[in-house]
Amino acid sequence: MYQTDDQPKEECGVIGIHAPGRDAARLGFFALYTLQHRGQEAAGIASVDDGVAHIHKGQGLVSAVFNEDNLSTLKGDFAIGHTRYSTTGSSGLRNAQPYMIETIDGPFGLAHNGNLVNANILRRQLLERGVGLQTSSDTEVMVHLLTAGSGDWTNRIKTLMAQAEGAFALTILTSNAVYGVRDPWGFRPLVVGQFDDGYLLASETCAFSAIGAELVHEVQPGEIVRLDDAGYHVEQGAVPKQKAFCTFEEIYFSRPDSIHHGKLVHSTRQNLGRELAREAPVDADLVVPVPDSGTPHAVGFAQEAGIPYTEGLIKNRYVGRTFIEPTQRLRETGVRMKFNPLGDNLRGKRVVMVDDSIVRGTTSGPLVQMLRDAGATEVHVRVACPAITDPCYMGVDMASREDLIAGHKSIPEICEHIGADSLAFLSIDAMMRGLDADDGFCNACFTGVYPFESERFVQLTLNSKEQFANVWGD
Ligand code: SF4
Repeated sequence: MYQTDDQPKEECGVIGIHAPGRDAARLGFFALYTLQHRGQEAAGIASVDDGVAHIHKGQGLVSAVFNEDNLSTLKGDFAIGHTRYSTTGSSGLRNAQPYMIETIDGPFGLAHNGNLVNANILRRQLLERGVGLQTSSDTEVMVHLLTAGSGDWTNRIKTLMAQAEGAFALTILTSNAVYGVRDPWGFRPLVVGQFDDGYLLASETCAFSAIGAELVHEVQPGEIVRLDDAGYHVEQGAVPKQKAFCTFEEIYFSRPDSIHHGKLVHSTRQNLGRELAREAPVDADLVVPVPDSGTPHAVGFAQEAGIPYTEGLIKNRYVGRTFIEPTQRLRETGVRMKFNPLGDNLRGKRVVMVDDSIVRGTTSGPLVQMLRDAGATEVHVRVACPAITDPCYMGVDMASREDLIAGHKSIPEICEHIGADSLAFLSIDAMMRGLDADDGFCNACFTGVYPFESERFVQLTLNSKEQFANVWGD
């Protein structure tokens, strides 16, 4: 399978909602719609009405999975929802979320954004206890750990938080409450909004405007949030570890209109572009973004450099993945399906092409060539994050180390490979300045320094990959 873009793939979006006296699932549907960018392979919503569970999920976009008929069956004023991009586990319907099962304490549902690095160990413990598993998903492991636990749901969640290593932003549905959980490192975002007399948990604040909610709390690492008839309640469920917010939420994943750490993501991306212009200036006539994700970075670059900003590439937003062989010729065809140059803007100009990231390096070369073919006399590539040298094990599909171009090529070699006149990546220091932070972010895909005890983590990760390959052929 060849992808017509060259970006890390998103890792899922979650919502949880309590809407007293209203259909929570219907409001949740609107919120989920705004999180479509976090996963397009499957979507689902589960609700609870008077102790009775309802669920609908399917493969594809939120708009394809839900319609008036199935939404009207999702009764109740508590609901959770999920949009999926598969990381751990295959992309089939059996791995679509939320997971919903009946327990002695009533219905229980779970939606998960992230990836557990010790899922294989937890999986083996469950199998040894005689618990059967149906899927390759780490989320199912969490479902069984929670439902087989003892004490009330909050205590069971705390027990899970003490066992699970890795990234997990969860929404959990029970018969009389919805819970939100953020792992002790805080890899994946989770926020609480208020509307009328209800509350919404969501991966990003962009979900709030769809139902008129206002941000009331950004869930902190290790916190548990409970939504119920008393409103919303926050408590510490696990001792926070060294903060490791995913830097890529800021660079690429999150919608630019979302707010993280009190800052608009769009503004952060402009700051990264400004840092890039300061760090890697270039004598040029135009700044052109790789749309859409490179746009705010390019705006910041142009403002700081004092070089006019213009559109030079038009993106066809309806091209997704194409199942074609990754030969150079067909790769260029795939890129041409997705982008078209604006010749009048480019002819005779020295161009700075600003992109948010380079992962495999498969699209940058064809884009540089496309700009040259359209008349650009020079093409300088500027990338608004450092070179990605290492894979992500925390729920982001980055490609394997061998497939990451910066994992095996130097920057001059990448420049030659993509045929640019010059190439520069933002340094880690400049990126942290752009994020307005000294630390608190995970930079493992740029540094290879993972926020876990490395030896144990590598072993866990290798075991996990082998086990999934052996058991599930995944
Ligand atoms: S390794 Fe990269 S993509 Fe993965 S959590 Fe860390 S910053 Fe995000």
